[in-house]
Amino acid sequence: MVNEQSVKETIGFLSGDKLKGRKPGTPGIELAAGYLETKLMDAGIPPYFKSYRDAISYEGIDTCNIVGCLEGRDPLLKNEYVVIGAHYDHIGTALAADSKGDIIFNGANDNASGVAAVLELAKYFASNKNNYRSILFCFFTAEEYDKRGSIHLAEKLQQQGLTLYMMLNFEMIGMPLEDGLVYMTGFRKSNIIEKFNEYAGKTFFRRIMPGSIDVFLNMDSDNHSFFKKFKVPAHTATTFNRQNYIFYHNLDDEMENIDVANITRIINEMLPVIATMVSTKDKEIILR
Ligand SMILES: [Zn+2]
Repeated sequence: MVNEQSVKETIGFLSGDKLKGRKPGTPGIELAAGYLETKLMDAGIPPYFKSYRDAISYEGIDTCNIVGCLEGRDPLLKNEYVVIGAHYDHIGTALAADSKGDIIFNGANDNASGVAAVLELAKYFASNKNNYRSILFCFFTAEEYDKRGSIHLAEKLQQQGLTLYMMLNFEMIGMPLEDGLVYMTGFRKSNIIEKFNEYAGKTFFRRIMPGSIDVFLNMDSDNHSFFKKFKVPAHTATTFNRQNYIFYHNLDDEMENIDVANITRIINEMLPVIATMVSTKDKEIILR
């Protein structure tokens, strides 16, 4: 079981004022990167490359994705990989302070919440070692800047010949939808909703509500970088529908404005689902 205090600690650190909005190329995001490296190391998850850092440069900015790998326990299936990721960057500080004197885009929902989920999953699999396939735990930089981090990593992994089963991304799970369910962007592209609900033994994953802008959302986060490169199922789990959180890219996207207990619940509900997905004999989640 995931511990709410641990989720809170992750979100609290990443969205703290000290990190100044985690903008790529700033000391704040460096602190975040170091924190994530330490957490992966403490969990016993080794780096995938020579170090945890997958460096990228753009427009004179040096930044990095953080990538850990937990090898699968099945001698054959371990050659297949699942990428589980979330972006850890955000948009830094505002040009001017608001009426309360706040100037930091803390990014608690966007996307410290998703990072907390990936970190808890990493800890869970590292201690249970029940994954037949290998799992890459990825924290992406520069999602907020044209998804440069994930585009870079997807390209690199593809060039290195990685066999990818699927990619699961976490974005903005800080506030619940009315029905408490999780939706998957890009659900039309694969059978993920059917399969994940089957693994959950109940309806926990939903299709986007009618009239929503799924196509846009699907191309709008790091899952899309992997979909484009690998042409495999790649989805973002989120509870954000652009109406249930008014602080999107706002100075008030802070921990006290999101629901940490609900984030913990979502991670707990998803643990067994993901545990099933990474260990099925066949690749059951397929594009349609
Ligand atoms: Zn985001």
